[in-house]
Amino acid sequence: MTTPVYENFINGHFLKNQTGDTFAVKNPATDEVIYHVEIADEFIQNAAIESAKQGFAAWSAMTPIERSRILLKAVAILRDRNDELAKVEVLDTGKPWQEAECVDVETGADVIEYFAGLAPAQVGQQQMVGNDFYYTRKEPLGICAGIGAWNYPLQIACWKSGPALAAGNAVIFKPSEETPLGAIKLAEIFIEAGVPAGVFNVVQGASEVGQWLTANPNIEKVSFTGEVGTGKKVMASAAGSLKDVTMELGGKSPLLVFDDADVSQAVSAAMLGNFYTQGEICTNCTRIYVHKNVYQQFIDELKTRTEQNIIAGDPMDPEVNLGALISKKHQELVLGYIDKGIQEGATLLTGGKALSPVSAPNGYFVEPTVFVDCKDDMTIVKEEIFGPVMSVLVFDDEDDVIQRANDTHLGLAAGVFTKDIQRAHRVIHQLQAGICWINSYGNSPAEMPVGGYKQSGIGRENGIETLDHYTQTKSIYVGMSNIESPF
Ligand code: NDP
Repeated sequence: MTTPVYENFINGHFLKNQTGDTFAVKNPATDEVIYHVEIADEFIQNAAIESAKQGFAAWSAMTPIERSRILLKAVAILRDRNDELAKVEVLDTGKPWQEAECVDVETGADVIEYFAGLAPAQVGQQQMVGNDFYYTRKEPLGICAGIGAWNYPLQIACWKSGPALAAGNAVIFKPSEETPLGAIKLAEIFIEAGVPAGVFNVVQGASEVGQWLTANPNIEKVSFTGEVGTGKKVMASAAGSLKDVTMELGGKSPLLVFDDADVSQAVSAAMLGNFYTQGEICTNCTRIYVHKNVYQQFIDELKTRTEQNIIAGDPMDPEVNLGALISKKHQELVLGYIDKGIQEGATLLTGGKALSPVSAPNGYFVEPTVFVDCKDDMTIVKEEIFGPVMSVLVFDDEDDVIQRANDTHLGLAAGVFTKDIQRAHRVIHQLQAGICWINSYGNSPAEMPVGGYKQSGIGRENGIETLDHYTQTKSIYVGMSNIESPF
């Protein structure tokens, strides 16, 4: 059976490359090749830049309210096609349908809608200075590059294009080569909604294509989502032409469960924050610090619910709530971390092995895995695993646990469970993380800025401030009286 071949999406349509080079994309739940994608060669790269230049000229000349109307049409199409797009995401990522059907497309559409609404409200300032005055204009940056990870491909493409396009920029987006289709679908939807050709282009390929984007002098900004190590390379390369950067990177986030917490609620948060999207979420609370007075109760309930309530299998089955990891290589990496946890003396409470569910026997599944009695210096406690692997640690002192939670170069997210309102805020204010939850975990509405402290990132996505990251301020001084000159 022949599989489809997708070309790069440039200037409003698919464009064939000249080398003929392609790569294969597999369904992680079946290990089967589902389609091929053409790699963006030099011809495509040059075409993408020319296309984005033309797209930028047309798009930035429109008023914010005209852009807003068009983007809102794209939002309506995204929502109409929810199920078709969710299926694309399930087949590309291996995540459960029951998640993609209500989260991936919806949260992407929400963000475009949010920024489409905000853009016409963005204003400059004016101020009198003596008889003269100045005013400022918020102008778009030009061509922005978006580089995405594979865990939420369509959502990431929406989160990057939403503010960029609302502010009047053009975008060249490179999805991960594991999950290239969602961004293509978004490009088609933008065209259908009336976004001019060239405003949103999709180039395909692995790190070489990403490197070309980060080094290209025609590109003003790079918004990157991926690993910390890759983020450093992207930033170094972007520095060559002094590009603006937004970095959404990895995490090793702590969740603190105090002895006055609702323990069942805390277990729910811990499971959501480790097993949702089979653990492939950057904000996951992979270090769970539980107060010694409720430690046993917490791990007893955690074990029971993990063993009874998780259903792995064909991700398209609506009953399935644990999908396949993105690739065989990633499955091996996650299993390697589990072996390391055992070697370093953590106690395996449950899970720990690869899974071969009857409905998806060839998929890259890993059992939901919980380690208890973990120590702060264990590899599984220190490094991001990006799979369904939770580490539980015990604590008995508030100041001590804050210090332990902060003892990492990462700072993406953090959470606290306690019924003491003063403690909740006191503790969360001391945690070094950009995205925090009290008696909750993982929600990320379009209105709320998200991004990391320390090496987890630079800049923010979502929320009002993000629009500023896609504009630059032009100051204009207006002379109202004769110039005083010594010449
Ligand atoms: P990677 O860093 O491996 O890749 C991210 C993207 O960068 C991919 O499109 C990749 O291409 C591309 N890339 C790789 N090398 C370069 C380079 N030198 N220059 C430019 N681009 C390059 O991340 P993963 O895809 O493995 O994603 C998982 C990581 O993403 C985790 O660390 C996770 O925490 C983080 N993440 C962070 C989020 C946040 O908002 N903070 C959200 C989601 C994930 P290709 O893969 O095609 O080779």
